[in-house]
Amino acid sequence: MVKLIRVDPLSPRREDIEEAARIIRAGGLVAFPTETVYGLGADAFNEEASTRIFKVKGRPADNPLIVHVSSVDMALNIGELPDHVVDIAKRVWPGPITFVAKKKAELPRAVTAGLPTVALRCPAHPVALRLIEEAGTPIAAPSANKAGKPSPTEASHVLEDLGDSIDVLLDAGRTFFGVESTIVDVTKEPPVLLRPGPFTLEELRSLFGEVVVPSFAKGLGEADVALAPGMKYRHYAPEKPLVLVEFDLKLAVDIAHEKGLKVAVLCMHDKCVEGDVVLKVGADLYEIAKNLYDSLRKIDRTNADVAIAPTVPEQGIGLAIMNRLRKASGYRIARSAEDLRRLL
Ligand code: AMP
Ligand code: MG
Repeated sequence: MVKLIRVDPLSPRREDIEEAARIIRAGGLVAFPTETVYGLGADAFNEEASTRIFKVKGRPADNPLIVHVSSVDMALNIGELPDHVVDIAKRVWPGPITFVAKKKAELPRAVTAGLPTVALRCPAHPVALRLIEEAGTPIAAPSANKAGKPSPTEASHVLEDLGDSIDVLLDAGRTFFGVESTIVDVTKEPPVLLRPGPFTLEELRSLFGEVVVPSFAKGLGEADVALAPGMKYRHYAPEKPLVLVEFDLKLAVDIAHEKGLKVAVLCMHDKCVEGDVVLKVGADLYEIAKNLYDSLRKIDRTNADVAIAPTVPEQGIGLAIMNRLRKASGYRIARSAEDLRRLL
């Protein structure tokens, strides 16, 4: 059974960090907050512990983990970052951006899914940073949810999914951004965006110049998805069907009612109409990102038969929101009333 430790997100108690760090060093699993979502951490050099992450999450073995470090120097012991990327990492870390680099250290096979590359990130959350520092080892951590479910943005989500099978959960309340880190493959020139996140494409382009954005990074189609291992899997999805609606939401609710279906409406921005259930996600893009996964989890607790959500502008963190929404919907996107009649 998990030991739940409540910590202050900005100034956690030293004893609590030390206890969690001891568990990591002893090969245990610790769920901890980052500025993006909660991670499920193990000593990145411990084969058995990192393999256990896959087991408790039900994660396919070909979906590699992100290795979390507390400094650029720690990252450079594990991966080879080109000089200009080291300069950039020094400016943007700690932060919600992950670099895929050539692997240098001998990491357990499970961590990198046997790839010659490793994903590296230094998280901007005091609890995560101090945990890594105290453990004195990089921490391999995917999101602390069951594979396929929305990532956890508060401790209750972690308990719901993994409560029985992890050792410690550091509960620091809600995470700050609510969507997973931006992932950039810097082994390619120009670099390739593998997953949009809170570190925006606009910011990336101001640092790197050109950045390639494959269609799957927007959550469109699966064609070139082989580039990003793990991205092909069903992600973030509620059990109930979710449809993205690109036309008038009121009309969409009427169409669902014609079919005798109860509808949950995810309200975003000023796009909000009455449904059988209304889930207020947020009024601006940052609020939407922060509440998105909790709202997706809530869909399954309503009595609705189907959920509908509007789209948001693909600017800033909006690109990440749309990527997650498209995947969560299983690519059920209705551009017109006819589309929706066909999808429902
Ligand atoms: P999660 O932390 O659960 O969001 O998962 C981490 C994601 O990072 C995986 O799903 C992969 O898509 C990506 N990733 C990790 N390592 C690599 C790598 N070596 N190359 C490309 N993508 C990676
Ligand atoms: Mg995940």
